[in-house]
Amino acid sequence: MNLFGISGIITGITSLLLSLIVLGHNYKNPLSRLWALFAFLVAIWGFGVYEIARTQSPEWALFWWRITHLGVILIPVISIHFTFLFLGIRKMWMLRFVYGIGIFFLILNTTPYFIVNTRYVFNSFYYDSPPTNLYLLFTLFFFLSFIYTNYLLYTNYKKASLIKQKQILYFFLAIFIGFLGGSTNFLPVFEVDVYPILNFIVPLYPIILLYAILKDRILNIKIITTELFTSLVLLIILGELFFVKNTTEFFIKGIIFLILSFFGYMIIRSVHAEVRAREEIEELAAKLEFANLRLKQLDEAKSDFLSIASHQLRTPLTAIKGYASMILEGSYGKISATTKSAVDKIFQSSQRLVLIIGDFLDISHIEQGTMQYDFAALDVKELTKGLTDEFKATIESSTDKSKALKISFEADEKENFSVNADRNKIRQVVSNLIDNSIKYTPAGFIKVSLSKVSENGNVLLKIEDSGIGISAETMPNLFKKFGRARSLSSAYANGSGLGLYVAKEIIKAHKGKIWAESEGEGKGSKFFVELGEEKH
Ligand code: ADP
Repeated sequence: MNLFGISGIITGITSLLLSLIVLGHNYKNPLSRLWALFAFLVAIWGFGVYEIARTQSPEWALFWWRITHLGVILIPVISIHFTFLFLGIRKMWMLRFVYGIGIFFLILNTTPYFIVNTRYVFNSFYYDSPPTNLYLLFTLFFFLSFIYTNYLLYTNYKKASLIKQKQILYFFLAIFIGFLGGSTNFLPVFEVDVYPILNFIVPLYPIILLYAILKDRILNIKIITTELFTSLVLLIILGELFFVKNTTEFFIKGIIFLILSFFGYMIIRSVHAEVRAREEIEELAAKLEFANLRLKQLDEAKSDFLSIASHQLRTPLTAIKGYASMILEGSYGKISATTKSAVDKIFQSSQRLVLIIGDFLDISHIEQGTMQYDFAALDVKELTKGLTDEFKATIESSTDKSKALKISFEADEKENFSVNADRNKIRQVVSNLIDNSIKYTPAGFIKVSLSKVSENGNVLLKIEDSGIGISAETMPNLFKKFGRARSLSSAYANGSGLGLYVAKEIIKAHKGKIWAESEGEGKGSKFFVELGEEKH
């Protein structure tokens, strides 16, 4: 077999396969259908060339030349149609005209006026040469349509979108390579005996185009490759069936063919499923990413809002608290016991609100990463004892006598409870914890105590109460944002669920530990804070 024949069979097989695959994939898309037709025409030409290269009879060569031209004549016609469709050009009259020319030459091809002569070339096969006048006309049409397609692509390139521009470039490349390879076949017709070796690049044409069409869904290349490979193997085995020597061999090969067909089918199916699954996952991931981004934006907006709102709330609240305190102190004259009790409630509530707003502000600082710490040596004993005394005084002076609470402080006299910490922040944590234990203990005791952890010498603060306790269900959410016990009755409505979260963040920044223990609801709670001397 000579090179001409080999190039023909390669072009034939690849074009046919690709044509079938494109059709099988997306026969609903007119662009794919047209392309499949195009590849099919190239395949006719390829197989025809193979036969021409094989036969040593001038009559058969003439016959096969006419067969190849069933494809060759329609190639320019379909490529113009494809270009129109691809670029969205609607010139029906032009299309009709081009199809008319194609049909004209097809009819001529069945008569003895188009391809008439053959000539033995390159010492190996018969070529359709020299040309008739009609064939000269056809060659002209062939090249003119090549120029026309390129002209269309060029003029539409600038107007096209970026994606389309890329596709046009691929298309241009494919057309160029295909025509370049194919057109050398015309040379020997006109008695320029250059071997049409460039036929070997023709199979690149369908491959580039196919790639361009599938580019947007590049994963499908995997399917295509699997299908191509499987079909090729099956085709080879099928081909072998025609050359068997006896029935036994025929049956064996036939069975092998059937088994391989089955497995090939299974493989292709699984690849399809895999690709589809992957596409779905990608789609979901993209959606998730978008949702995530939105959430982040919302979160930032929320932090900004919190910070602004908290600042704005503080000023009027300070005024409320200040005036309530002045009324209580008698700065505006003597007041009755009932008024005093009412104003006291105003004062207590605004005090609590100040804490909550503080928590909100802290949270926005924590989330924006702008929380500032001022580390220095801190005597935890002095701090907690002072705080306990303050709370004790508040409880005792409170007009709300329904609460019978005993609050106590205990620490070893000789121990040194000094740590490296931000005084204000630790004060905030401790007062939050004591405030909580008062809030959640209707009656009984609150014991604040300090000790040292024997293993590492850290300071351990314990705040124990005999209050409502913490259920096992609430425990894991205690230190989370807005984590509140679900069973909290309306008696404890005035909480935000932020205090412990902020406390945890603050203690974390101190490289310390904070945790809670409780034997269950109604059995009291213990809160622990462990702080070290570590330098920050
Ligand atoms: P809140 O503003 O609700 O008190 P915190 O973050 O300070 O928010 O506390 C979170 C939740 O932990 C409370 O709502 C409550 O359910 C529980 N809790 C905190 N301290 C105690 C305590 N001493 N006894 C029982 N439950 C507590």
